[in-house]
Amino acid sequence: MEYAILCSNCGKETQDPLHYRCSCGEPLNVCLKSDFERQGVRQKNYTIWRYEKFFPYVRKSDIITLGEGWTPLVMFSDKVYFKLESLNPTGSFKDRGSAVLLSALVRLVKEAGGYISEDSSGNAGASVAAYASRAGLRASIYVPQEVSGPKFSQIRFYGAETVKVSGGRSRVSEEAQKAAEGKFYVGHILHPLFRDGMRSLAYEIAEQLGWDCAERVYVPVSAGTLLLGVIEGFRHLVKSDAIDSMPKMVACQTEQVSPLYHRMRNLSYTPPSKIESVADALVSVNPPLLNLMVERLKEVKGEVVAVQEDKILNAFAELSGTGFFVEPSSAVAYAAFKMQSDSGKLLDDRKNVVVLTGTGLKTALRFDQLHS
Ligand SMILES: [Zn+2]
Repeated sequence: MEYAILCSNCGKETQDPLHYRCSCGEPLNVCLKSDFERQGVRQKNYTIWRYEKFFPYVRKSDIITLGEGWTPLVMFSDKVYFKLESLNPTGSFKDRGSAVLLSALVRLVKEAGGYISEDSSGNAGASVAAYASRAGLRASIYVPQEVSGPKFSQIRFYGAETVKVSGGRSRVSEEAQKAAEGKFYVGHILHPLFRDGMRSLAYEIAEQLGWDCAERVYVPVSAGTLLLGVIEGFRHLVKSDAIDSMPKMVACQTEQVSPLYHRMRNLSYTPPSKIESVADALVSVNPPLLNLMVERLKEVKGEVVAVQEDKILNAFAELSGTGFFVEPSSAVAYAAFKMQSDSGKLLDDRKNVVVLTGTGLKTALRFDQLHS
């Protein structure tokens, strides 16, 4: 085997790719046993599957694709490049995870005559719904009772069945995970193969920069799948000598939803009674992967920035006003870059990358709210 799926806490290995949690309750991780080799890249493939070789648990004949990945890396200024994850098939970076996860599991789920369940009313729900329909799998997407907006419509247009659950976000998760005949829970937050799909983003950034290292990479952080997956990808590249050093990873949170920011500083965090940030994709006040995020971010000497609401709005306005129409949640990462740039923290002549995670077409924000 070229990989193993191991518990992040007790180290126990699982052989079942459908497992999303160790028997000790802690999250699982994919550990690769082979190196990244540049000559292993499929040069004529312009999706994440140009790195197919480095996802050894996916059979080539099982690949489910909508053309995800190989998104543009656009130079915005001398100092910063934007990685346009908003241009993925369903409009967000989550497609990397959905494509890898469903490609890995489709055969097992189909053979069992089963269907998949997921809990998300946002980008992940839409993405899993799309890949399930592409795969010919039935999907049940569990959402909060009060759900509305463009992402919920998108989930339904893809043909997924939606199940509304009252009583808060954790109740939605519980219902999605509840055992039922033929049901396979593939929740994006816990499932190690979803998170592992994010490695492809690190590979792309490195390759698109000509295998030169980025100085800093800014990612918005909520549940942590993007941050953890991208760290894993860069670590794989460094360990394999495909790039010289690890970029400084900068985790970007809103001031309102900043559990990682607080934990990294050993401060206690009390979320506001109601989250009103315009960055409405960043809502994990108590993420199940928090311990793992802290551990990894410390290991790679990363940083975390918490961004004030007015700075998010300014960054969103600047991005859209220069042609980059992204979700306000993506603007959090650009705002964090600007804060560090303004404070003189960034070195000259170095390439920094801001990951613009999702499209502005899905935002509930209206023009007159921003410009009144
Ligand atoms: Zn364990």
